Amino acid sequence: MGKEKIAIIGSGNWGSAIAKIAGQNAARQPDLFEASRIPMWVFEEDVNGRKLTEIINETHVNEKYLPGIKLPENVYATSDLEETVKNATAFIFVLPHQFLGKTIEQLKGKIAPGAKGITLIKGVDVSESHINIFADTIEQELGISCSALSGANIADEETENFRVQTIGDVHGVSLCGALKNIVAVAAGFMDGLEWGDNAKAAIMRNGLIEMKEFTLEFFKDAKAETFFQESAGVADLMTSCMGGRNRKCAEAFVKTGKSFKDLEQEMLGGQISIVTAQDIHKFLKAKNRVEGYPLFEAVYQCAFEGRDVTTVTKSLNAKRPTN
Ligand code: NAD
Ligand code: 13P
Repeated sequence: MGKEKIAIIGSGNWGSAIAKIAGQNAARQPDLFEASRIPMWVFEEDVNGRKLTEIINETHVNEKYLPGIKLPENVYATSDLEETVKNATAFIFVLPHQFLGKTIEQLKGKIAPGAKGITLIKGVDVSESHINIFADTIEQELGISCSALSGANIADEETENFRVQTIGDVHGVSLCGALKNIVAVAAGFMDGLEWGDNAKAAIMRNGLIEMKEFTLEFFKDAKAETFFQESAGVADLMTSCMGGRNRKCAEAFVKTGKSFKDLEQEMLGGQISIVTAQDIHKFLKAKNRVEGYPLFEAVYQCAFEGRDVTTVTKSLNAKRPTN
């Protein structure tokens, strides 16, 4: 078997953190990987009058999305998607999910036969009453086998220790990563209201129940234990409710009264959050199942429909009709 050639599709906050890990790991195993030059695709933009790719290639730091963290010398930035994927056998998809569709279209017909992928994207692919995880979307659209990596891993806390375990539950892992974003927004509302740790713990408990039940209702092969035993489940829920971007923006939403869109601009410097609540609302509405998931729905309504955030905890007592 030939060496694996990695292509990193994405270069944001998490994309840059994972590029560092992938570059280091490949360099440690030159018999398994073509380790000397690993391309990281960058959606080109100007940062202080200079191209982001030029900054990254000169300083080895993504100064916009992961400042202060040095990327290994073997990772290089390119805005040329075709060049990124040329002869690649191992694809890492790590971009905000709203940009994946267009990227997939550009990749069609340009992927080497037998290549495989892994997606690190936390979100779901919804169109009306149809829901897909991104690993399945990538498999269907690009014809390559695709797995998923998800867990408690906030990019800014990046360290030398990154532990990966494998399990077979790709649907469960992917749904954990997507749905915890909604619960993290509710946790941020509690912080904004300054209602304390008991209220936040109640949100996390009920959120975990809705996450698990939603997944088991719509993805029949997913496993309940993934939610309780894996980093992708309860651990990612906890870290996101304590430290994530969704939590942070939701707290500011309550305290400032500004929209999520404005807060994202002001607080995240181009990083992206808070879309999963909208996607899940759209899907549940199309399925006529909104009442089954009162916490998810309350988050959507407070974030986008002007509902009073002090009513979120009422959703914890709501009777949840089963399907
Ligand atoms: P991010 O939130 O930092 O988003 C910014 C990225 O989006 C930049 O690379 C920017 O160039 C790119 N972008 C902007 N407009 C674009 C366009 N039109 N087309 C293509 N790209 C465009 O990104 P991230 O943090 O790397 O997140 C990627 C995925 O990883 C998300 O699904 C996220 O949920 C997941 N994730 C993030 C973290 C984290 O701590 N940041 C941890 C685990 C998983
Ligand atoms: P946020 O997108 O809310 O920052 O969460 C990052 C994450 O996925 C942590 O594991």
